[in-house]
Amino acid sequence: MRDYKHLLLANKAWAAERLEESDAYFSRQVLGQKPEFLWIGCSDSRVAPDQLTNTEPGGMFIHRNIANLVNPNDQNLMSVVQFAVEVLKVRHIIVCGHYACGGIDAALGGGVHGHVHDWLAIARDVVKAHADELDALPEEQRANRLVELNVRDQLVQLARTDVVQAAFAAGHPLELHGWVYDLRDGLLKPLMEIDAATPLGDVPTPEKVLL
Ligand SMILES: [Zn+2]
Repeated sequence: MRDYKHLLLANKAWAAERLEESDAYFSRQVLGQKPEFLWIGCSDSRVAPDQLTNTEPGGMFIHRNIANLVNPNDQNLMSVVQFAVEVLKVRHIIVCGHYACGGIDAALGGGVHGHVHDWLAIARDVVKAHADELDALPEEQRANRLVELNVRDQLVQLARTDVVQAAFAAGHPLELHGWVYDLRDGLLKPLMEIDAATPLGDVPTPEKVLL
């Protein structure tokens, strides 16, 4: 277990290493950010988006919540999306789930209460929307398939938001990507993409990646 003081010590070492690489590292950071990517992922501590994609500070705008949900009424998420699209003009938004997601397990099996239970309402909607497919699967495959279906539904939800629709209508070159991260091998697995030309009324469910 790392004491919290170790975080501060590690930070000092990290800052010193950056300066060793370049005297101008931090003065460049002060000038501003121009990330090409917005990442919407799960808060799970094992799925650290910039680390697992080798992205330097400044390269990725990041929003994380339990089970990587896109709720158009969530002001936290929607202000991030609006700022990323309208001001930073990101070219890509990635919605990334991960197998063995505790939030997704809870959406399927319950066992949570209070804020977490309330938050997962949208994930439970995904369970209901895909009940036929999920019910037909062996129990051990159900949660991981729900991870994939949840990425699909959140990506479609994101595409329907006012911010993304306005960007598509304005011809902003914006692409939405649905990915899953596999904790077992550290690899990101692309599931699907949506751009301005994608008809949102009939977005197919992605092929099963993990059985
Ligand atoms: Zn998770």
